[in-house]
Amino acid sequence: MRITFLGPPGSGKGTQAEKLSAEFDIPHISTGDILRNSITKQTEIGRKVKSYVESGRLVPDGVVLDLVLGEARQMESFVMDGFPRTLVQAERLDEIAPIEISVFFEISEATVVARLTGRRICPVCGRVYNLSGDRAVAKERCDECSVSLVIREDDQENIVRRRIEIYKEETLPLREYYRKKGVLRRLSAEGTPDTVYRRLKRTLLEDDSLKI
Ligand code: AMP
Repeated sequence: MRITFLGPPGSGKGTQAEKLSAEFDIPHISTGDILRNSITKQTEIGRKVKSYVESGRLVPDGVVLDLVLGEARQMESFVMDGFPRTLVQAERLDEIAPIEISVFFEISEATVVARLTGRRICPVCGRVYNLSGDRAVAKERCDECSVSLVIREDDQENIVRRRIEIYKEETLPLREYYRKKGVLRRLSAEGTPDTVYRRLKRTLLEDDSLKI
């Protein structure tokens, strides 16, 4: 089953994709993670995309398509988070690996701003902590690595606002694109990760997308 997760930054797409991937052994493709890795490793692509990612702008379609399409072509099943983010990306993906389900994460803007500005990450293992809302944990150090947690460059409040604006302009139109294709499923993304995950599984099971 080829699944994409669609929704604003901070709606929990990455967290839910990881859970689904682990439980059902579906490969998880996260363009945000791939891009951040290239930046950390200072590869040629990393140098090219650094300023876009850190300022919250979208990386040009050509660069992201090169990263994703080769891999997607070979795969019968995957869950993608953070891709596609533009109509051009969605159309190109459908040409080579037609999407069967696109889950749209519905959440208020206030919740995503609180989540993103309250997010802290471990610079060593990448584990994500959150200082906001019902998952409040006033942590300063990673439980695993004991190093100080950091704020992702693009989680600064002014950049978060820009990411949300860009999401509305460039990515939100994909909801209509997938609706017209009959593959859109809506998911309430408010609540704890476990609550959302239960809803997600119900949504996918209703569709028979997860064969268990
Ligand atoms: P994410 O971790 O999904 O929030 O992505 C972090 C950043 O990576 C985004 O703000 C963009 O700068 C870049 N990025 C990730 N996925 C894409 C994509 N599909 N198209 C363009 N830029 C992307």
